[in-house]
Amino acid sequence: MKYHNPIAAAPALLLAACVSTPAQDTAGLDIPAVSAPGDISRETMVEVTRTLSSDEFEGRAPGTPGEEKTVNYLIEQFRAAGLQPGNNGSWVQEVPLVEITGKNYAPLTVSGANANLSFNFASQWVGVTYREDQQTRLDTSELVFVGYGINAPERGWNDYEGVDMRGKTAVILVNDPDYEMETLDGPFGGRAMTYYGRWTYKFEEAARQGAAGALIVHDTFPAAYGWNVVESSWSGPQAHAQRGPDAPRLTQVNGWVQKDVAQAIMQAAGRDLAQLSAQAKQRGFKAVPLGLAASTSFENDIRRFQSRNVIAMLPGTTRPDEVVMHTAHWDHLGICTPDETGDNICNGAVDNATGTAALVALGAAHRRAGPTERTQVFLAVTAEESGLLGADYYAANPVFPLSKTVGGINMDAFQVAGPARDVTVVGGGKSQLDAFLDAALRQVGRVATPEASPQNGYYYRSDHFAFAKRGVPFLYVDGGEDLIDGGRAAGARVAADYTQNRYHGPKDEFDPNWDWSGVMADLQLFYRIGRKLGNSTSWPNWVEGDEFRAIRDRSCAADPGGC
Ligand SMILES: [Zn+2]
Repeated sequence: MKYHNPIAAAPALLLAACVSTPAQDTAGLDIPAVSAPGDISRETMVEVTRTLSSDEFEGRAPGTPGEEKTVNYLIEQFRAAGLQPGNNGSWVQEVPLVEITGKNYAPLTVSGANANLSFNFASQWVGVTYREDQQTRLDTSELVFVGYGINAPERGWNDYEGVDMRGKTAVILVNDPDYEMETLDGPFGGRAMTYYGRWTYKFEEAARQGAAGALIVHDTFPAAYGWNVVESSWSGPQAHAQRGPDAPRLTQVNGWVQKDVAQAIMQAAGRDLAQLSAQAKQRGFKAVPLGLAASTSFENDIRRFQSRNVIAMLPGTTRPDEVVMHTAHWDHLGICTPDETGDNICNGAVDNATGTAALVALGAAHRRAGPTERTQVFLAVTAEESGLLGADYYAANPVFPLSKTVGGINMDAFQVAGPARDVTVVGGGKSQLDAFLDAALRQVGRVATPEASPQNGYYYRSDHFAFAKRGVPFLYVDGGEDLIDGGRAAGARVAADYTQNRYHGPKDEFDPNWDWSGVMADLQLFYRIGRKLGNSTSWPNWVEGDEFRAIRDRSCAADPGGC
């Protein structure tokens, strides 16, 4: 996952007995009891995580020898688990990707009547193109400050109102206008980030507006990560989905500038970033042409290739065409910026060799317990780190119709921190799946803690989002922070250590001394939820008013035999 640690810094006051799904939304749901715990192999979890995160797998970047090894190894593991190929006799789904690697970057220059600024690539700005062009140029493209760069007709909000962005470059704030609220009230869900706050949305909307460039102003708190993460993620090879003929419009350049660079640009325009940012939070904000023009250029190496999703299944008994989905991304960053020891392999042990191993271990446990009435699917997707590309490709080209996909569980980065009294629920209260989670939590004597930082928009940052945005309800639950041994303080320490020292770096490595008992307890929870959904006659939906409810209702209405 790009930028992900929902349990970081969870204030204790957030503890709750169960995730808050209104009673009227869970009434009448068929939630079968699951009598026996799953026979889930700790050995499998340890061995698969260790192997996938070994240097031999070279950090599992799509389109590299690391992919070959990973895909072949996973097929072997799924086969050994007694599962069946999940794509019409094949274990894989080809995912056409293109890798674009920018090079020979010119500085970003900003010029105007009394300004001539120049900013260095990597340390002050980063930028890429999503276009398969050998050469990328931004030529004296007029700069326009567009606030949060949001066009949300359903909320009566349009930062691009009355401005023609064709050929211009948008300067955009990260997150959404009300992220500083204490509560969840506000035009954009208050403290919780909406999809409008995500960088993906910012670039998509600027492109829809016809902009030639889109530059997001980096700011650590609203972005939820430091410049180091932006720099490492926006330089080097970038994978994108290969674009079909009717693909949406693209800008020339998508990128980020450091906050002090944005301030320097505003000063050169006779403006103040803090003042403009305050205005941008107000309804009715109007975009501000800065009277300056931006230019830069760079070249691109283009490589088209097929990556692969790996799909395994345990066919259902009486309703095999109805499926319960389990997802985890197998990919990681591959060869990355070396650390102080010179180690340049981003092994991705926690992120996400653990989640991928969980697919194998859970699949084997379900097979040992025998099939459920519905089919259980285990989908290891590619290119999550590049923007959920494998999951998006699957959800756009599903092997099992989405209207026959009951719901799912996404697993991304287990915290190997020892057992916890709670779990952290990302996107809690959005769907009736929470009732299945609650029932399973009660059975294992654990409680749910809502995510501590809804302003970070974690629900939009991993593979379940590719399904959710097409209407399929998905759970995204992480191990909790209230550790049996040491409580929340200990949990917070573990989370902080991961985020600061190991996340998306060479130090996210397998540790033979890890205590797996917490992970095994989390897997027992996911196992029970999978069994309950697999034997339920219900089609859990999003709660009334949720942003995905209408999409699901439409897809169900279109398939009488489905949801
Ligand atoms: Zn991840």
